[in-house]
Amino acid sequence: MTRIAIVGVAGRMGRTLVNAVQQDDGATLAGGVVEPGSSLAGADVGELAGLGKLGVAAAESLEAIVDDFDVLIDFTAPRVTLANLAFCADHGKRIVIGTTGLDEAQIAELDGYGDKLPMVFAPNMSVGVNLTLKLLETAARALGDEGYDIEVIEAHHRHKVDSPSGTALKMGEVVAESLGRNLKEHGVFERVGQCGPRDPKEIGFATVRAGDIVGEHTVMFATEGERIEITHKASSRMTFAKGAVRAARWVAGQDNGRYAMQDVLGL
Ligand code: NAD
Repeated sequence: MTRIAIVGVAGRMGRTLVNAVQQDDGATLAGGVVEPGSSLAGADVGELAGLGKLGVAAAESLEAIVDDFDVLIDFTAPRVTLANLAFCADHGKRIVIGTTGLDEAQIAELDGYGDKLPMVFAPNMSVGVNLTLKLLETAARALGDEGYDIEVIEAHHRHKVDSPSGTALKMGEVVAESLGRNLKEHGVFERVGQCGPRDPKEIGFATVRAGDIVGEHTVMFATEGERIEITHKASSRMTFAKGAVRAARWVAGQDNGRYAMQDVLGL
């Protein structure tokens, strides 16, 4: 049994993760952490997740539950995640990170922990999205140099704070890498006013924020006469939560290293 703690347990993903751990025969819910000072401290995490009492009280710090868990699942915010990563490295824990929106310096800081603990870091934990990344590699190799324009379009709910989504950026990176392009050089994140005709090598991004959309991503390969679209649509956060619990069980048996969802799924 993998003993899992969830930080940000009162959040949208946190509550869904409680459900996913409860449904998993190989995992047990060992703790939940809310923001320090939260009015939800001490609440039963099962009740926060709409499951009724589970006998696990929401703590305000990782210190308070340090002896109870083996793997931490963290879907919070970049600064919080980096502090939790340091805690896990110092206390012999493992970590699964789903937080997105880390900037370059924060990614470099995260990379610095690669040899200090086993961690899975993935901007999207869904099995379907990770398979989609493989399909994109194949499509980009076959089409990229044949005059196809590549655009990434994503849509998320109105509460999402980072843009484009971590998944959209990952899709752009996979396509760019498959084509020997650099996303920093060829990524176009905004088109306003007289921006001129399209550079054939650019990889464009468009973002929709509206209502309660859980997460939709399309990569379009368009040329004169035809258009191919590879689309993934998530209809429930449970797909990310189940992937994260699977990653937690997997990382419990790994050596130190930074792993991706592709490693977890053997893709
Ligand atoms: P949310 O705002 O609903 O939840 C975040 C929670 O973290 C909040 O409850 C907040 O109180 C808590 N928190 C903040 N600081 C804390 C601290 N110091 N200690 C403990 N808890 C703290 O957001 P969300 O929709 O659940 O998304 C969270 C993150 O997960 C975002 O970065 C989002 O993009 C990412 N996400 C990733 C995936 C994936 O598959 N990798 C899927 C969905 C969302």
